[in-house]
Amino acid sequence: MATAEELLEFLPGTDCRQCGVSCAEFAGLLLARERPPEDCPVLHEPDYAGFIEALHELLGPLTAAAGMRVDPEKCNGCGICVAMCEFHLGNCDAARLGKGPRPQDQMVFHVVNGTVVVVRQELCTRLVQAAEKCSKCAQYCPTEAIELF
Ligand code: SF4
Ligand code: SF4
Ligand code: SF4
Repeated sequence: MATAEELLEFLPGTDCRQCGVSCAEFAGLLLARERPPEDCPVLHEPDYAGFIEALHELLGPLTAAAGMRVDPEKCNGCGICVAMCEFHLGNCDAARLGKGPRPQDQMVFHVVNGTVVVVRQELCTRLVQAAEKCSKCAQYCPTEAIELF
């Protein structure tokens, strides 16, 4: 289990507060799983390439969230679910071109170190009240790794 201090080593340490808090506070929120590493905009700059992946590695993959569970044993990281996701197709220009969302895009999930990691489950179309229930990610997954409930 990672500590906030270990996570802090992979944050820029500039306290720019673009995420709304200091780097140390952000590390605490990461540890509590209240914010994903993707929420630090500075980490998307080329100088910090690999830092988001390193933070996910320290935290361990978040593969379950309200209404969705990804089995890390079955997931092979193919990314089909990310490319087919209804939210990504509707909201990310890159996804509409068949490339999947870019790191700075709002996303429900993406592939990190060969496994799907849930970033913002609350964006999933299934959770929008009165929306037609989507299940494309589970439907297209070749290994049946995604469970929706
Ligand atoms: S946006 Fe990133 S660099 Fe800036 S305070 Fe938050 S965690 Fe630190
Ligand atoms: S259920 Fe639909 S909107 Fe939700 S993550 Fe899966 S493909 Fe995306
Ligand atoms: S489609 Fe299935 S196997 Fe491929 S990345 Fe998504 S969950 Fe993993």
